[in-house]
Amino acid sequence: MRDFTLKAYRMLLEAFLHAGYRFQTFEESMTTPADGKTVVMRHDVDELAWNALKMAELEFALGIRATYYFRVVKQSNVPEVIRKIVAMGHEVGYHYEDLSMAEGDMTKAMASFKANLDYFRQYYPVRSVCMHGSSTSKYDNRALWKGQSLGDLGLVGEPYLSVDFNQVYYLTDTGYAWDGGRYAVRDVVERGTSLSFHNTWQIIECVNNGAFPEKALVLAHTLWTGNVIQWIWLHIREFLRNRIKLLARKNGTIAKCYEKLVRLYWK
Ligand SMILES: [Zn+2]
Repeated sequence: MRDFTLKAYRMLLEAFLHAGYRFQTFEESMTTPADGKTVVMRHDVDELAWNALKMAELEFALGIRATYYFRVVKQSNVPEVIRKIVAMGHEVGYHYEDLSMAEGDMTKAMASFKANLDYFRQYYPVRSVCMHGSSTSKYDNRALWKGQSLGDLGLVGEPYLSVDFNQVYYLTDTGYAWDGGRYAVRDVVERGTSLSFHNTWQIIECVNNGAFPEKALVLAHTLWTGNVIQWIWLHIREFLRNRIKLLARKNGTIAKCYEKLVRLYWK
């Protein structure tokens, strides 16, 4: 059976539910953390906003509330999708990349961060934000918080800054694999455990066996699709992207070309 499809995603959610996990939005996990088995389902909508809607509908049908972080780029920022996701009771937050967009200019970045936060607050009273990795940029978007506190902007948390990953197990589907951490540039956290999975079936098995950690933060991007053509295309693209990312780390020319391509794509 194919992995990273909507069907596989549903099976994963059902496994958690059957094992007695409850789902909280990221915001809730910050303000009123639940006791016992808890999963926070986080979606970084880097692109393919309509796929996010499909995932949100699936969760809604199962009575699950998740957290969706939207970027300002047009591939992510689709008002119709944001509105529908909010209407289903999910949390919406801002997937910020202001510092990399402002080429490291802190003043400019903070001004655009505030404007973008206000923009997303038209749809939802945003209380959490999450950095976008901007893997080809030399700027780490989290540096924005060197001169500013989250609380001053009415925010209660940032997944990369507010979570103790020794207490909360972190899982991410970066590059179409649950153990693709070596392809990630900034989406990496220090984990207190060596527990690792490659595919979704392994996670489901672990959940069914009762061996899955009690608290987890799961990042699922929007590449999960029920469309076979899109699924094949995305697998080829992710395979190539993973290779290029590894090559770019060793070769400056490849890194520069890749950075230019990425810039063009998101323009
Ligand atoms: Zn991102």
